[in-house]
Amino acid sequence: MARNVVIPRWSKNLGYMLAYAIRAHNGPYPAEFFLGCSKCQTRVTLTIERLAELIQAKGPLYSVWNRHPKCARCGGKRYYSGSSGGPGAIVFPFTADTQDVTVVSLHQRWKAEKQQERTRG
Ligand SMILES: [Zn+2]
Repeated sequence: MARNVVIPRWSKNLGYMLAYAIRAHNGPYPAEFFLGCSKCQTRVTLTIERLAELIQAKGPLYSVWNRHPKCARCGGKRYYSGSSGGPGAIVFPFTADTQDVTVVSLHQRWKAEKQQERTRG
C-alpha cells in the first residue's frame, strides 16, 4: 500500500470505527458504516451495537479493509464501506480499488479538470 493513500484514519480498524461512530453519533453528522453485497446489492447498516459485536468477535485492531465475508442471502462477496457523514460525504468502499485513490491521483484529476476548463474557455 502506498504511503500517500487517502484512507481516513476512522476506517483503519474496528476500534477506530467504533470510536468515530460513538463520537459522531450525537453530532450533526453521524458516521455511517455498511456491509454491502456486490452481487445482490443488499446493504446492512453497521450500528454502534453491531460494531461492538464485531469487536468482541474479532478484536479492536481487526481491519475490515479488503475483507469479503460471504453473503448469507446469495453467497456473493460482501464488502465494508463507510462515510464520515454530513453534506457531500462519500461512502467509501473499504476495498483494494479505493487504495488507488492517492494524493497523487487526486491531484492529477484536479489538474485534468483545470485543463478541461481552460480548453473550454
Ligand atoms: Zn448477496
